[in-house]
Amino acid sequence: MTVVNTRHAPVDLAIVGAHVVTVDGKDTVLRGGSVTITGNRISGVHAAGEPVPPSRRTIDASRAMLLPGFVNIHAHSVLTGLRGRTEDVAGEVSLHSHILPFRARVTPERAHALGRLGALESLRFGTTTIVDLYWHEDAIGEAFAEVGVRGVLGESISETDLLKVGHDDWGFDRKRGEETFRRAEAVIAKWHGRHGDRFRCIVSPHAPDDCSPELLAEIKSLAARHGLPITMHVSQSRSESRRLKKWYGKGSIAFLADQGLLGPGLIASHCCFLDEEEIRMMAKSGAWIAHLPMINAKRGYAAPTPGMLAAGARLTVGADNMTGDMVMATRTAIIVARILARSSTLLPPREAIRLATIEGAKALGQEDRIGSIEVGKLADLMLVDLDKPHLYPITDPLATFLHWGLASDVDTVIVDGEIVLRGGRALRVEHRQVLDAAQHAAETGWAPS
Ligand SMILES: [Zn+2]
Repeated sequence: MTVVNTRHAPVDLAIVGAHVVTVDGKDTVLRGGSVTITGNRISGVHAAGEPVPPSRRTIDASRAMLLPGFVNIHAHSVLTGLRGRTEDVAGEVSLHSHILPFRARVTPERAHALGRLGALESLRFGTTTIVDLYWHEDAIGEAFAEVGVRGVLGESISETDLLKVGHDDWGFDRKRGEETFRRAEAVIAKWHGRHGDRFRCIVSPHAPDDCSPELLAEIKSLAARHGLPITMHVSQSRSESRRLKKWYGKGSIAFLADQGLLGPGLIASHCCFLDEEEIRMMAKSGAWIAHLPMINAKRGYAAPTPGMLAAGARLTVGADNMTGDMVMATRTAIIVARILARSSTLLPPREAIRLATIEGAKALGQEDRIGSIEVGKLADLMLVDLDKPHLYPITDPLATFLHWGLASDVDTVIVDGEIVLRGGRALRVEHRQVLDAAQHAAETGWAPS
């Protein structure tokens, strides 16, 4: 993929001769197509043979596939620091005795170092937008800005002591709820629309079993005031539904409906244990499901996606904890759906790629600007190098990539019109420095701060 530079030209960058998977409304694919970028926007999408205007820079992409960047709908970048420690621990023990206490002990400095690691990995693997949900999102935002990814930041709101829930102490603490709520407000005030609108915010109550109905009402009006979506872990564990039934006499989805939260403004993450009635309620309400197949599978769970797809529920895909690999997340979504349905045809790659790109953009209310390759949209793109033994022969490159490719086949990533990764190397940050700082943060992250 050679680059040619020309001084005077009407467009800034032309990517020529690529296998262009647009993920537009018609799933248009162009063989030998070209895409031009002017400023931070896509200014032209050209089929093979159509004239391409002269450009200041040209990338020859004749053995490459051009895709919209992945929209990772659910990430906790800081939890890259848990790699190697919790993958083989029982699901709920891992969540309540490892993940949540680690969250509670992370300082802004550690969050920044691990946020940069998560962002660097995600960028390397073709993600251009990361929805990050955590504490210290101010530090995460700085980390994302340095690496050059687009961010959607959600400072976690919760009313329980995350160090105590592992001991089954779920006492609501009003003061803690108010404190985390205020921090979320501060992140919105500082980050929503920042860095030329590269950053947006999302309202992120942690889960229905660690926020009281009173706090959820305040959260709902906070989201309405700022016109933001709400995202929440829903039916992540079996015990969540048990707790809600004990406290309120109903399961997760009925509880959320009672709070007035079930609708298109909600992105419910995990949804592992929904029954048929709950799936029907989700589909009817227009609420979004953030399907996180890798972390679910690692815990021995599988969200009932065949039933969700059949009911017309709105699905997106995320990588969640300990990885930013959206290629693997999308492939795992395909595999899990097919195992559950005992079918080899469910979720074909042309549908699966939509969940990882444009559907995520829609869930965030950003489909007018990201998630597909269309004239006028922001130039958030990835180029996959197809010149690899495991991706040959070149027949249907999207299917080959999603079934057999590696995230590291991504060669070039463009965010907001800027080339931020080239030849697999990030251009804004220094690889060694990011990794060393993250190592230090992870090693100290288990000690009380
Ligand atoms: Zn999560």
